Amino acid sequence: MRFIADLHIHSKYSRATSKDMSPESIWRWAQLKGITVIGTGDFTHPKWSMELNEKLEPAGNGLFRLKKEFQSGDIYGSCRAEVFFLLSAEISCIYSKNGKTRKVHSLIFVPDFADTAKISLALSKIGNINSDGRPILGLDAKELLKIVIDNAPEAMFVPAHAWTPHFSVFGAVSGFDSMEECFEELTPHIHAIETGLSSDPAMNWRLSALDRLTLISNSDAHSPAKIGREANIFDTEISYKKMMNALKTRKGFLGTIEFFPEEGKYHHDGHRQCEVGLSPKETVKHNYLCPVCGKKVTVGVVHRVEKLADREEGFKPKGAPAFHSIIPLPEIIAETLKVGANSKAVDKQYQKLLQSLGNEFKILMDVPLNDIEKAGSPLLREAISRVRKGNVHIAPGYDGEYGKVKIFETAERK
Ligand SMILES: [Zn+2]
Ligand SMILES: [Zn+2]
Repeated sequence: MRFIADLHIHSKYSRATSKDMSPESIWRWAQLKGITVIGTGDFTHPKWSMELNEKLEPAGNGLFRLKKEFQSGDIYGSCRAEVFFLLSAEISCIYSKNGKTRKVHSLIFVPDFADTAKISLALSKIGNINSDGRPILGLDAKELLKIVIDNAPEAMFVPAHAWTPHFSVFGAVSGFDSMEECFEELTPHIHAIETGLSSDPAMNWRLSALDRLTLISNSDAHSPAKIGREANIFDTEISYKKMMNALKTRKGFLGTIEFFPEEGKYHHDGHRQCEVGLSPKETVKHNYLCPVCGKKVTVGVVHRVEKLADREEGFKPKGAPAFHSIIPLPEIIAETLKVGANSKAVDKQYQKLLQSLGNEFKILMDVPLNDIEKAGSPLLREAISRVRKGNVHIAPGYDGEYGKVKIFETAERK
């Protein structure tokens, strides 16, 4: 069965996260977005773990369901669907290795609360897991992997947003040049990496070292509306085992749904305070210094990929799954209405479209353009048609600043 999964989100117990990240609203928004399997996030946090234990029940397939008595809030009949939760967590490791400070985020998936308890107990001896849903530990990422393997043999360990400059396995600021430098003899236990918002599979295909890994994408959502901004498409039985097997073998892994990478916060290089975004070539020309203030620029994902790549742009490894590039529907509606994506007018039309056409992924990828025009407007039809063809303009993001999407030129709109 073909279904969509978003395996990296955060609960209300993570820093800078919406209070609405509760099991109930995650369940509701997963349906509005069109997600069948959603990560719980933050299973190491004691309070969140207790809440999950209370509100979820085993579905018998290594995944979990929200108990009936907690299923509340209206959901349009057009979006209503079954949702499964997969126990997930993210850990931030800060440590020193080979003469450099390393900051690496990693995702952990497990099929059972017994696994979450064992891993949490082991980590609680190393650092504080109570204060942040995504705990920061003074622990080598390789040691973390070892703890996970030792305590939960069925766990999956995935380097998170692998190219983010400050917090990832390959990041320009505090990452490594190879998976082996980070994980050494345990590297074979890594079966997948998360490409993150600022890179897409095509960029990762330029590294032959990544050919054996499955490239996954998740939202890293900190609020319900951001759930599913990136996601994975599976074609397997819905179960923990089959999904993890698909990540290991790529059989039954159909690919990912992606941000246009330019929209990500670290696509290009630059200096946010000075509002300076630079392409890798420009950065080199300016000697890695901000042309306005002279401080060092933050080197982004394109630049970093370019440095580690051993293949030209445009190379596609044999058998690599396809991917779909999307722009979140509220942003598309905002473009057609010429208002901000968080405005009331956008939400009103967003809800109306979901009600008449079905979930957001369906609208973005599958619903016939004629139906979109009928439920929305001719301009919305044109906008979605352009997004599907990849015919959009995006000013690339840099140094923590999201890229700016433009579907229509001012003159064109008429
Ligand atoms: Zn992270
Ligand atoms: Zn500057």
